[in-house]
Amino acid sequence: MEDVHDIALRELLDPLTGHLQEELNSARIAGQRVAILLVKSAAIDQIDAAHGFHAGDVLSSEIVKRLRSRALRKHDGIELLSRDEFVCILRPISSEGISMLAGQRILTLLSEPVEFGDKSAVADAAVGISMFPDHGEDAEVLLQRAKYALQSARKNRDRLCYYETEQTSPPIDQLQYAERLRLALDRNTLSLHFQPQFNLLTGRISGAEALLRWKDDVLGQVPPNIAVQAAESAGLVDRLTLWVITSAIQKNAEFQKISPDFTVSVNISPSNLQEPDLPFYIDRALRTWGVKGGTVVMEITETAIMVDQKKASEALNELKSFGVRLSIDDFGTGYSSIYYLAQLPLDELKIDLLFVRGMLEVPNYAKIVRSLIELAHNLDMMVVAEGVENEDIAAALTHLGCDYLQGYHIGKPMPSQDLITLLRAQPASAKKMD
Ligand code: C2E
Ligand code: MG
Ligand code: MG
Repeated sequence: MEDVHDIALRELLDPLTGHLQEELNSARIAGQRVAILLVKSAAIDQIDAAHGFHAGDVLSSEIVKRLRSRALRKHDGIELLSRDEFVCILRPISSEGISMLAGQRILTLLSEPVEFGDKSAVADAAVGISMFPDHGEDAEVLLQRAKYALQSARKNRDRLCYYETEQTSPPIDQLQYAERLRLALDRNTLSLHFQPQFNLLTGRISGAEALLRWKDDVLGQVPPNIAVQAAESAGLVDRLTLWVITSAIQKNAEFQKISPDFTVSVNISPSNLQEPDLPFYIDRALRTWGVKGGTVVMEITETAIMVDQKKASEALNELKSFGVRLSIDDFGTGYSSIYYLAQLPLDELKIDLLFVRGMLEVPNYAKIVRSLIELAHNLDMMVVAEGVENEDIAAALTHLGCDYLQGYHIGKPMPSQDLITLLRAQPASAKKMD
């Protein structure tokens, strides 16, 4: 039997879904894609409770104003789903990447405080995205999928989530994942893939990023993020990272037989920096395989530094004393702070692939990429652009003076044997990319 609430909600939704459906119908005729960005402000509820509904209204209308005037294009639409949920309709939209960039822009705008009376508050927003016709052709289905993505977005570090069909599968059973991961570590059945990095100065592949690959008999292929999450909740992350570092250094000894001074980058989890023995293990692996510290790069994210800044800074300085190079990963999203760049002994900055992938379509992203390259160079850091997916992006980055390129255009992550074949095929001295 239908619930009274269901009927009321549907009546509320009808004008919106009706309007959205009209947009979708004309997009279908024009052969266009449409992105639905559902923005929710968690602060409005709290502000209502603390300062009254009027204050909540001020925040709600300021959000609409900012979205309309500074985040959306003239022809994009915005509709209110409720006082704290806003539906942005972006039409036409060329790719998933661009819809993510728009979501990122919205979040940046909404992180600026709103004044009401003598107080101020931030919207505490998250964005869930669904795409027409990729995720459905019906307005109600697309809104529901954007809502689903929004729920995941609230748990994400960057508060942004694009709907994935796999999200319909039930949430993972942490215990089962932990148990299977322990088994994989015991049986040594995990593996690493290596994604080549192209050095624009020498015109050669001069390094690779090691990326975890876990194909489990029961769970199938488990994405590295999920594997790391399972390891963290099961207290296995130090063991996992240790395995990754040791294996990557061992493989680098092989790569260096073909290409001396070849570098391998490994990803470090935030909690690894709390493990006091990490530098000791790295040092031991370097000695065991006869690899120089300067040819190993540790990639950290800003979250890693923020967990405990003092401890992180100590751990990073100790790593530096073995000559290991330090890189800041996914820079430009999350809680990017220039402060860390100045404070920590960092050697490299990796520009997040969101900016790189969108740089030819969104002029502001090209400007951000350019500024990040300049900033890093001024701080004597090398710059790696991630997510280089085509020739045109590679050419633009070359023009901007980027140092290294990484992305599908250079090469997808591959087994170490394939990288060895690639390195063998490289001419002794290659030409610069122009
Ligand atoms: P990350 O460190 O930023 O690695 C880059 C990710 O971008 C990789 O995804 C790579 O396959 C993908 N990628 C590279 N080039 C392109 C491109 O041109 N286009 C697109 N769309 N994607 C590209 P992957 O392998 O799924 O890894 C995802 C994340 O999982 C990594 O992001 C890293 O944060 C984490 N991760 C992977 N391996 C490890 C590990 O051994 N330890 C830890 N702690 N984290 C890991
Ligand atoms: Mg990385
Ligand atoms: Mg990255």
